[in-house]
Amino acid sequence: MLDCAIIGGGPAGLSAGLYATRGGLKDVTLFEMGLPGGQITQSSEIENYPGVFREDPPVTGMELMEAWQPQCFHFGLKHEMKKVERVAKTGEHFTITLEGGETVESKTAIVCTGSTPKRAGFKGEDEFFGRGVSTCATCDGFFYKGKPVTVLGGGDTALEEAYYLSNIVSDVYLVHRRDTFRAAPSTVERVMRKDNIHLVLDSVVEEAIGDATGLQAVKVKNLKTGEEKILETPGLFVFVGHNVNNEVLKDPSGNFICETNEQGQVVVDLSMRTSLPGLFVAGDLRIEAPKQVVSAAGDGAVAALQVISYIQEQS
Ligand code: FAD
Ligand code: NAP
Repeated sequence: MLDCAIIGGGPAGLSAGLYATRGGLKDVTLFEMGLPGGQITQSSEIENYPGVFREDPPVTGMELMEAWQPQCFHFGLKHEMKKVERVAKTGEHFTITLEGGETVESKTAIVCTGSTPKRAGFKGEDEFFGRGVSTCATCDGFFYKGKPVTVLGGGDTALEEAYYLSNIVSDVYLVHRRDTFRAAPSTVERVMRKDNIHLVLDSVVEEAIGDATGLQAVKVKNLKTGEEKILETPGLFVFVGHNVNNEVLKDPSGNFICETNEQGQVVVDLSMRTSLPGLFVAGDLRIEAPKQVVSAAGDGAVAALQVISYIQEQS
């Protein structure tokens, strides 16, 4: 019987493992289906995680997360490179079902499976992801200071992020496939008032164009006229929605084992407690997540400290 099963080895899961083991728990296993590190390992540069800033060459996401591993595993955290299929509460304990059917019992569980930005599906999107194509304006906007960028999407995220970017970059070309926005009217009005946001409506991104140095331009197509044009922007921000990786929290009937909101994000309190006692959720998977490495790591630490208290209360 594990003291704690941690599902997902991004910043939230790794820091949860560090705090759980350093806090005295003996049997803690991190189940991560790939190499630990999480989605930030896809980023070519990170400059907003305190303490690791380097200008040239910048710190990569991979480099940042490699440095976490010796520390996070130093205090006894075990790692199993396995995909978790399901987390279920059976009586007082949790049963973790792994891919292939093997099961593991645990007193508590911290689920940190993160989120996956939706891809729009245009040509070159995957090739230039992290090299000009981004899904995080807070993280990458500053790299385009004084330069033009393209933003794709018509929801609240796209318009809010377009507005954020317009204060950093020279021009924002906001590409949306319809001529009305899904975003809140007040947000639309705010965007409309910005001189350097240019609307490219009824249009989709056809292709991200670049070379070995990264993205150079974006080909867009007007769906009504068929006209194609090239936007010479070295940055393309894709905000077409976000999927939280919440599948492990569904029972065999497809119902969530804990409370979630309409987007499938898990409802937690400030201690990362879910509605199911003994089950904690940290990082991008939770409601109102700022979707930053630093906050995911903080969540993981909070959840681990709560797990320690929970186990003490139960014994
Ligand atoms: P994740 O990092 O998503 O980690 C979840 C982990 O769970 C993954 O490793 C995944 O393999 C694993 N997993 C999922 N399902 C299962 C399963 N069923 N079984 C086992 N394992 C599973 N943030 C910043 O602060 N600064 C930046 O500059 C920045 N830049 C970014 C650039 C890019 C390109 C991207 C994509 C994101 C960026 N972010 C940045 C956001 C940041 O990466 C996330 O907010 C953060 O990684 C969330 O951490 P997490 O631990 O909650 O989840
Ligand atoms: P969203 O509301 O799902 O919007 C996604 C946008 O991307 C839509 O405009 C959609 O176009 C477009 N899109 C989807 N797939 C596309 C594709 N393949 N190619 C081109 N465009 C595509 O996602 P979101 O903006 O991330 O918001 C998610 C949820 O969070 C929403 O409920 C939103 O209201 C909420 N949110 C709220 C706030 C806030 O309250 N301040 C801020 C951010 C997010 P269509 O419009 O044509 O479908």
